[in-house]
Amino acid sequence: MRKTFIALIVALSASAATADTLISNVNGIQATADGRIEHFGSLLIGDDGRVKQIFAKRSVRLSRFDHMINGEGRTLMPGLIDGHGHVIDLGFAALRLDLTGTASLAELQQRLRAYAAAHPEAKWIQGFGWNQELWPEKRFPTAADLDAIVSDRPVVLERVDGHAYVVNSAAMKAAGVTAATPAPHGGEIHDGVFVDAAKQLIDAAIPKSTNAELDEALAKSQEILIAVGVTGVGSMSTSLADWNAFRRAGEAGRLNVRLMAYITAAEAAEANMRPTGWLYGDRLRAVGVKLFADGALGSRGAWLKQSYADSPGSLGLQFHSDPEMLGLADQAAAAGFQIATHAIGDAANAQIISVYEQLSKKYGRDRRWRIEHFQIVDPADIPRLAPAGIIASMQPTHQTSDRLMAEARLGPNRLAGAYAWQSVLKSSAKLAFGTDFPVESPNPFPGLSAAISRQDVNGQPPGGWISSERLALGQALHAYTRGAAYAGFAEPKIGALEPGKYADFIIIDRDPTQIDAQTLAKTQVLETWVAGKKVFSRASGSPERGQ
Ligand SMILES: [Zn+2]
Repeated sequence: MRKTFIALIVALSASAATADTLISNVNGIQATADGRIEHFGSLLIGDDGRVKQIFAKRSVRLSRFDHMINGEGRTLMPGLIDGHGHVIDLGFAALRLDLTGTASLAELQQRLRAYAAAHPEAKWIQGFGWNQELWPEKRFPTAADLDAIVSDRPVVLERVDGHAYVVNSAAMKAAGVTAATPAPHGGEIHDGVFVDAAKQLIDAAIPKSTNAELDEALAKSQEILIAVGVTGVGSMSTSLADWNAFRRAGEAGRLNVRLMAYITAAEAAEANMRPTGWLYGDRLRAVGVKLFADGALGSRGAWLKQSYADSPGSLGLQFHSDPEMLGLADQAAAAGFQIATHAIGDAANAQIISVYEQLSKKYGRDRRWRIEHFQIVDPADIPRLAPAGIIASMQPTHQTSDRLMAEARLGPNRLAGAYAWQSVLKSSAKLAFGTDFPVESPNPFPGLSAAISRQDVNGQPPGGWISSERLALGQALHAYTRGAAYAGFAEPKIGALEPGKYADFIIIDRDPTQIDAQTLAKTQVLETWVAGKKVFSRASGSPERGQ
């Protein structure tokens, strides 16, 4: 009895007193500020969840610390920060009809049939992830293709890039549109496919997600992210409903992933929203707004300087005139927001660079204007980034997923500025990496692998695609940690394991400095820690999801 009592006192005082934790005997690696690899052997964490000190040696003698954890020589590195992801969409993609990886239209139909049969209660069937480029037929699905499977209720299936829907006739009826409805500016409609701005015609009819559904999607998304080692995200295209879900999770202490939110520009303006400081122990912040300059390459919505090689005469979709784009960005900048603008095609990139150049003169340098994707760029425009303080926010796995499509859309002679990571760094511009999940898997390791090899997880193509754009491992890790933190104004708090920054880190099953790119892509996260607390352990639980 007495023994139990004393044990209880000891346990209570240990948790109440200031408690420094020494994590010793690790193979620590991280990127230095100049993009090299730094090694360390142990880590001292204060009870505020921040790093107190890192040590080169694996075993250190300290005058005092309260707990010691033996890292058993395992590899430890900073938690990865995904500079551009869609947090709620990732959760919904996992909870709804998953069409990622379908190998044919018939497989899409088969998954739709199975989902419809398993969810008779769903008034609308929503799915995500098809990509006709992966199918032998290579053509877009149509309303008739879906009607053949489900005709009694609306079906809305989003393309993997998020830039197009295919819907069935019941959905068009519910939305009050027909084949004859004209497409709005910046959109296209054909055979049940609604591209870019035309998606809004369907969105208006889809029942709004309830708070409970949003909360469930956020919880699922965090579970997926933590299991692949992502501890921070630039949360793109955050709606006000998403933002409120983030806040509910913050209030309840359920934010494990730090979110730098970029609010949908129209909603931010309508609600007269302003940026926030960090909330809930530096877990959440509204830092910027998201704008769009064009569509995506897959649906030929990217706005190009010269016409598509595989669609002569077509330049893609210009979303805004130059004065309109400047007006939208200026309004957001005047409200104090950072601006993150989606630009895929070379014409869209040139337009937003010009806008940012003008805003830099008005607002000064450290507004960290972001271009999201920066995918197909005229090489002549790359040197314009650094002088205007523009950040290229890029996604290495887009390069491996899109390379054949990019060759088809652009032809062989217009790829010099395509996914040009090394050219961006050589121009002295800042680079941030991410995945654009759920467009790509949120797993950062295939991205790091692509970044150093210009090859996909199967090693294709041999030698790497435009291999001069490969990065060194330290550069790639930098873009995925320090670079992504900087892109979200978060570098004083996260992105490196240094005194005063949060002890957000992961323990992984291999040493990225000792293996080839294909082996790196298969890295498994064993543990994830946020603010010095373990939030995921592969042994104890949450299985990794397929996303
Ligand atoms: Zn995106």
